[in-house]
Amino acid sequence: MGNVLILAEHKDGTIKKVCRAAFTFAKQYAAKQGGQVHILVMGPGAGKAAEEAMCYGAAKVHVAEHPALQSYLAESYAIVVAEVAKAIGASVVGATSSSMTKDMLPRVAAKLGAGMCSDIVGTDDQGHFLRPVWAGNAIVAAEITSPIKVVSVRATEFAPAEKGAAGGEKSAVAVNVDLAKLRKRFVKFEEIKSSRPELTEASVIVSGGRGTKGDFKVIEQLADLLHGAVGATRAAVDAGWVPNDLQVGQTGKVVAPDLYFALGMSGAIQHLAGMKGSKVIVAVNKDEEAPIFGVADYGLVGDLFKAVPEMIEEIKKAKG
Ligand SMILES: Cc1cc2nc3c(=O)[nH]c(=O)nc-3n(C[C@H](O)[C@H](O)[C@H](O)COP(=O)(O)OP(=O)(O)OC[C@H]3O[C@@H](n4cnc5c(N)ncnc54)[C@H](O)[C@@H]3O)c2cc1C
Repeated sequence: MGNVLILAEHKDGTIKKVCRAAFTFAKQYAAKQGGQVHILVMGPGAGKAAEEAMCYGAAKVHVAEHPALQSYLAESYAIVVAEVAKAIGASVVGATSSSMTKDMLPRVAAKLGAGMCSDIVGTDDQGHFLRPVWAGNAIVAAEITSPIKVVSVRATEFAPAEKGAAGGEKSAVAVNVDLAKLRKRFVKFEEIKSSRPELTEASVIVSGGRGTKGDFKVIEQLADLLHGAVGATRAAVDAGWVPNDLQVGQTGKVVAPDLYFALGMSGAIQHLAGMKGSKVIVAVNKDEEAPIFGVADYGLVGDLFKAVPEMIEEIKKAKG
């Protein structure tokens, strides 16, 4: 069995919390199947991220900093990940499932001639990868038969690795990327700046559906009061009421916060696939037959425009 290489995403040198799920996967997989855990950090700030990466028990942390990696492009980053995987004799290459890794890992798999399994939620003793299908209603145990296997890891299914004392080796990657040879070039990156936490990192999410009729004011007020993120159903996104990066569900983001408010949404199976792992679910819906009540820990049958302002007042009072 070869090594397990994990790509760790970071923002300005701070490793994203969701990536720590992939470290946990790697440790568990290496413990069962053998091999060492290696972590790769790339791009601007990778040097700083490497210092943090060394606290998660990897045998080696690889640092790829180079002008060609200044701006993220799946094509350039995939070259580096595949080269490092080959150099260290990796038999598994993985990362936490995210917009970036959904874009990049299939390219890494193609470069390595590897089979790929997306969004895994576990492994079994035979080394099969477990992944949900049919909006989470069934779990497949998939065998990847190629010598190198590429996986993306569902963050909600692996506890984030705990930080320990720094250890392991650090190694600089000799980056060999010629941007002029790529068939894509970086134009610009428009970051949506928000004072709210990212959906996948938030411990509280307040989500609205079609029942908001496009008025997300109370949703946002409740989210801000609880320092939470705002989420939405696809119906709300498709109506153009909120940007599509707020969509939770099968074709949106998969989240598992400590507290999830489902407000004015029916609880369609595709939405549940993205949030039913939340620790506590609170639902408000006018229709007592709404399927969301089937997964809610606390359910209120009522109008969200009456119930949510009352909740906000009560929370404010309780906070003093
Ligand atoms: C392939 C595929 C992928 C999909 N992926 C996703 C996905 O990732 N995420 C996702 O969310 N959906 C997804 N969908 C869409 C999904 O099937 C549903 O259509 C969608 O989730 C419904 O959104 P909703 O609950 O907001 O709207 P509705 O189903 O219309 O429900 C609105 C609810 O609001 C309630 N309501 C109305 N007014 C009020 C009020 N004033 N106060 C309280 N309650 C009120 C109503 O009783 C109703 O239950 C997908 C569908 C397909 C086919």
